Amino acid sequence: MTKKPAYLLTTDAALAQFNTSPDGLKGNQVAVRQEKFGPNSIAVGHREQWWRKYLRQFKDLMIVLLVASALLAWYLQDARTAIILVVLVSFNTLIGFFQEYRAEKTMQALEKLVTPLAQVYRDGKLEQIPSRELVPGDIVRLVEGDSVPADVRIIDELAFSTNDFALTGESDPTRKFTHVISKAVPLNNRHNLAFMGTTVATGEAKGLVVATAGDTELGRIASLSQATVQEMSPLQRELRHIATRVTYGVVILCLILLFVAMQADMALKDAFLFAVGFASSLVPQGLPAEINTSLAQAAGKLARAKALVKKLSAVETLGATHIICTDKTGTLTKNEMTVQQLYVADTVYEVTGTGYEWNGEIRAKGRPLALKQTNAFAEFFAAGALASNAKVLPPDDTHRSWYCLGDPTEGALITLARKARVDIESWQAKLPEICELTFDSARKRMTSVRQFNATTAVAYTKGAPENVLERCTHIWDGRRVQKLTDAQRRQIIAKHTEWAQDAMRNLAYARREMPLSLAKEGTIEQLETDLTFMGMVSMSDPLRDDVPAAIAAAQQAHIKINIVTGDFALTAEAIARKAGLDQVGEMTVVTGEQLDAMSDKAVLKRVLAGSTIFSRVDPEDKMRIVTLVKQAGLVVAVTGDGINDAPALKRADIGVAMGVTGTDVAKQSSEIILLDDSFNTLVRAVQYGRTIFANIKKSTLSCFTSNFAELVVNILSLIVMSLLGIPLAIGVIQILAIDLLAELFPIAALGWDKAEGETMKEAPRDPKEHIMNWRNITDLAWCGLLIGGAAFVNYLLFFGRQGVDAQTVDTTSLLYFQATTLTYVTIVVCQLANIIQRRSVRGVFTKYQLHNWHFWAAVAFSMACVLTIVYNPVVASYFKSGQLGLIDWAFAIGAAVLFLAVREAQRLLQHKRSLA
Ligand code: ATP
Repeated sequence: MTKKPAYLLTTDAALAQFNTSPDGLKGNQVAVRQEKFGPNSIAVGHREQWWRKYLRQFKDLMIVLLVASALLAWYLQDARTAIILVVLVSFNTLIGFFQEYRAEKTMQALEKLVTPLAQVYRDGKLEQIPSRELVPGDIVRLVEGDSVPADVRIIDELAFSTNDFALTGESDPTRKFTHVISKAVPLNNRHNLAFMGTTVATGEAKGLVVATAGDTELGRIASLSQATVQEMSPLQRELRHIATRVTYGVVILCLILLFVAMQADMALKDAFLFAVGFASSLVPQGLPAEINTSLAQAAGKLARAKALVKKLSAVETLGATHIICTDKTGTLTKNEMTVQQLYVADTVYEVTGTGYEWNGEIRAKGRPLALKQTNAFAEFFAAGALASNAKVLPPDDTHRSWYCLGDPTEGALITLARKARVDIESWQAKLPEICELTFDSARKRMTSVRQFNATTAVAYTKGAPENVLERCTHIWDGRRVQKLTDAQRRQIIAKHTEWAQDAMRNLAYARREMPLSLAKEGTIEQLETDLTFMGMVSMSDPLRDDVPAAIAAAQQAHIKINIVTGDFALTAEAIARKAGLDQVGEMTVVTGEQLDAMSDKAVLKRVLAGSTIFSRVDPEDKMRIVTLVKQAGLVVAVTGDGINDAPALKRADIGVAMGVTGTDVAKQSSEIILLDDSFNTLVRAVQYGRTIFANIKKSTLSCFTSNFAELVVNILSLIVMSLLGIPLAIGVIQILAIDLLAELFPIAALGWDKAEGETMKEAPRDPKEHIMNWRNITDLAWCGLLIGGAAFVNYLLFFGRQGVDAQTVDTTSLLYFQATTLTYVTIVVCQLANIIQRRSVRGVFTKYQLHNWHFWAAVAFSMACVLTIVYNPVVASYFKSGQLGLIDWAFAIGAAVLFLAVREAQRLLQHKRSLA
C-alpha cells in the first residue's frame, strides 16, 4: 500500500505513520533512521567536473590565439616555436585552473562553517542539533526567523506563517495551520506543511519531519539557500571588461598588422606571431584569475579570524566601508544577561550570582530575603518566566556551565525566578498558555495569555519599561491593586533612568485578568491594555573587552561608527561611553521619536558625522538610515540579528549577521557572518578588506606596467622597422615569457603583503573610483614609456657596442638573438624594480620591503627562470635567446636603477607637494 502524503493525514495519523509522538523519537529510533535515510543535506547544485573546468580556460581569446599560433608554427614545420607555445599555454591554463580550483575549495570549506541548527524534541527533551542530523519522524520546534530545516507537517502552531517565496514564488508570508487537507492540492496550497529552505515569518510551531534531504520539495529542485555565492567583485568585472575590450580591439589591430606585415614581406608565420605578440603585450592575461585567488585567500583568512564571507566580492567592498551602523546587544556587549536589581512595591532588591546558574539570592539592603518574603512576590517572579520562551539548561557535553537556549534576556528572567525558588513548572501547569503575543521590536513588549479557570484568563506582559507603562492603568503594591498615579509613574521612570545611566538594561512586568472569551479572540491592541504594573528588573550586559580598542582603530581609519539599537537611550549611551565612542567624536543621542521628526537631510548629517546613537528605533528606522547613506554614495556596513533586520541587511552594501545569536533569515540576507558576534571582528574584517584591496591594486598596476612597456617596444620596433629596416627588438616568445613566466610569481606573491601602517590611517577609498582611472593610466603610460624606451635603447646600443649595423643584421644570427634577449632582460629587471617600488607608498627604501618572504622567494624564482632562459643552452634554443655578457647585464640593471631613481624622485616631489 502506498503511503498517503502527510498533508492529507490528520496530525495523529501523520504521527502514527512515522511511528513517533509529540515528545519526539527515541534515541535508538534515531540511529536506525539515520542509517536508513542518511544525512539531511542537499548537495549544492551541480558541481562541474575538473576537466570541464580546465577546458574552460581555453575560452580566453588570448589562449585561443596562442593555440592557433602553435598550430600554424607546427604546420610551417617550426617545431620549437610550436612546442614552446604549447608549454606556455599549458603552464598558464594550469595555473588558471588551479587558482580557480583553490578559490572554489576555499569557498566550499567556508560554506561548511555555517552549520544550520535545528531545535528538536527527542526523548521528550528539547535539544539543538545540526540540521543535517534530522530524520523523518523527528519533532522540530520552529520560531520566527528560523530557516525550516526539512519538510515538516505542522502539528501545533501559534500565529505561524512562513516565507515560501524561494519555493512557490509567493511574496507574502503564508499562514500555516494544523488542520487536515481533504484532497490533493498543489504545493502552494498545502497549508499544513512547512518546506525546507523557506523561513519562518511569524509565530512558532511544532512540526513533524516528513521528508529530509533529497526527498524534500527543495531537494527535488536542488538549490541551497545558504550556499555561499561566488559572484564577481566590481574590480574583477572591471578587469574582465577591460580585458575583453582590449582583446577585441587587439584582434582587429592584429588583422590589420598581419596585412601590413605581409605587405612588408614578412613570412606569414612571423607576421602572425608578431600580431599575437602585439596582442599579448596588451592583454593582462591571468589577472582576473589572480584577483579571484587573492579574494578567496582573503576569505579564508577572514574566516579564520571569525568573519565568514558569503560573497567573495564583499571582501573588496569591505575595504571601502565609510560607515558602520552597529547594534548594541550582543555586538558591543556580550549578550550575557544577569538580573542584578528589582523594583517591586516601591522597594529595590539586589540579586546575587552570575550567569544562568541558580546559586544566587534576592537581597534587601544586603540581607538575603527569607523564603516567606520571596513567596509573597512569587507571582512577580513567575510572570517573567511565564512570559518567556527560552530554556535554561544544565551543563552537558558541549556546555561547561548552565546555558540558555533562546533569548538571553528571557534566560535571565527564568534564572531570576529560579533564584527566588519559584516552581516554574507548577505555574506552567496551573496556568496553561492560550496564546502568545510575540515580541517585536516596534512594540517592544511580549505577552503570554493563560487560562486561569473556566471563565477567566490572566495575561503576563513584559517589555521596555516605557512601552509597558504606557499600557498600565493600575499598580500592584505587593498586596493590593491600586490606580496608578502620575507620581508613581514618574517614580518608576526615575528609577528606570537611574539604572539606565549605569548601562543597565531594564524590563517591566505587568499583568491583566480578563474574560476567557476576550483572551481567545482579542487582538493585541485589546489584550495589551488596562494593565497592572507589577515591577521592574534591571540586568547587566557587560561590554565586550575588545570593543574600545576596535572603536579606536575604526576611528583612526576614518570610519564613522553609529549605534542603532532598540534599547533605551541612556543605557545605550552609557554603554557607548564605556566603549569609548565619546573619545573619538562628539556623541549625540537621537531617539526613535526624534528620528521620526527629522528630515532625511538632517538624519544623513548625523550619520555622516558619526558617534550618533539612534535609540529605541525599529527596523523601519534602520532601513531608512541605511537607504539614506547608500543614496549618498557611501559604503555602509550594517549589523543585525533579527528577522526584522533582514531588509536593512539586504539593502546595506555589506550586511553583517551575527553567527551565534542571529536568525537564519538575517544570515541569509547578509554578505558576512560574524562567527563570534563581535564588533572587533567586524572592524578587523574592514581592515583586512583594505589591505586586500591595496594588494590587488598593486598587482593590477604592476601587471599593466609591463604590458605598456611591451607595447612601447613593439610600437618603436614597428616604426623603426618601417623607416630604417631595423628588425624587431623583441620576439613574441620573449613577450610571452615576461607575461606568463617572469612576472607571474612576484605579482601573485603581493597577495601576502601585510597592511602598511598608512592603510589603516587613510580615509576610506571612494567606491566609485576605479583602479584604472586616468591618473593611473597616465602613470602606467609613463612607466611603460620609461621601461619600454630603456629596453629599446639598450637594444640599439647593443649593436653599437658590437660594431654591427642594425639595419643589416641577420635575424637568425646569435648576435640578433643576444640583442633581443637584452631587450627581454631589460624589461624583466625593470618590471621587477617596478613591482618592488609599487609595494610601498614609501617607495623602495623602507623596512616594509623586508617583510613577506613569499615575495622575495618569488623574485628569486623569477630571476632563476630568466637565467635559465638566457644561459641553459637547451631552453635558450627554444626561446631563441643568446647569452649576455656582464656589460649587457650592467646596461639592463642600469636601466632599472635609472627607472627607480626617476620614480623615487617623482614620489618625493609628490610628497613635498602634498605637504605644501
Ligand atoms: P540591539 O538592537 O542593540 O540589539 P536590543 O536587543 O535592546 O538592542 P530590541 O531587541 O529591539 O533591541 O529590544 C528593545 C527593547 O525591548 C529592550 O530594550 C527591552 O527593554 C525589550 N525587550 C528585549 N527583549 C525582550 C523580550 N524578549 N521580551 C520583552 N521585551 C524585550
